[in-house]
Amino acid sequence: MNDSDRLLLVEDDPGLRQAILSALVQGGYNAVAVPDGIQAAQRLRSEMFDLILLDLGLPFVDGWEILAQLEAQPLPSVIVISARGSEGEKVRALDSGADDYLTKPFGADELLARIRAVLRRVRPSPGTQQSVRCGDVVVDLTARVASRGGEEVRLTPTEWALLTELAEHAGATMEHRTLLARVWGPEYVGDRQYLRTFIQRLRRKLERDPANPTVIITVGRHGYRFGPMIGDAAQT
Ligand code: CA
Repeated sequence: MNDSDRLLLVEDDPGLRQAILSALVQGGYNAVAVPDGIQAAQRLRSEMFDLILLDLGLPFVDGWEILAQLEAQPLPSVIVISARGSEGEKVRALDSGADDYLTKPFGADELLARIRAVLRRVRPSPGTQQSVRCGDVVVDLTARVASRGGEEVRLTPTEWALLTELAEHAGATMEHRTLLARVWGPEYVGDRQYLRTFIQRLRRKLERDPANPTVIITVGRHGYRFGPMIGDAAQT
């Protein structure tokens, strides 16, 4: 079903690597696997991947370093697979650029469901043909490019999906649950941490002063809004 989706699995445990790889292939994905961080970095320099399944504890170059050094354009999605599984590590992984975090052990069904959810965010939403501006931030929904001060801002697929939801409804408040359901999927509506982390990530990339945002506004305890409220001329 997903011939065009290329997946890179980075996992040093041989048994686990083989098990995950066969689950991916059975799931219809075009997947390759490497056992360490050096081979992962080589692959990422020379090939395009849609999604990386990334173990954190790896020989030579660990998963954190790979996350920090991702430079492809467009950026691939990343699902961290880790045995450590503390809440702090999950937050750190999301904060460092991962799209999702899966704690070992996990079943093939859960893995494939997470992959589908992450890849779904990459698909352009139909009928969007406009660009939205707030100050010097421009979100071109047609070209799927965001820029600040005329310079392109590099966004991950999940960051882009969240920004699209906000920008398509510029001036209107988007509730937490709505954003979680539309960007992450209905099963995530209670997982506010994802939303908080990704709002912070977008602010760091788009706002002049992320602590005093003017592009992505917190609306009380309800949600977030892109740009000034509709009809609020004072802020435009
Ligand atoms: Ca490992």
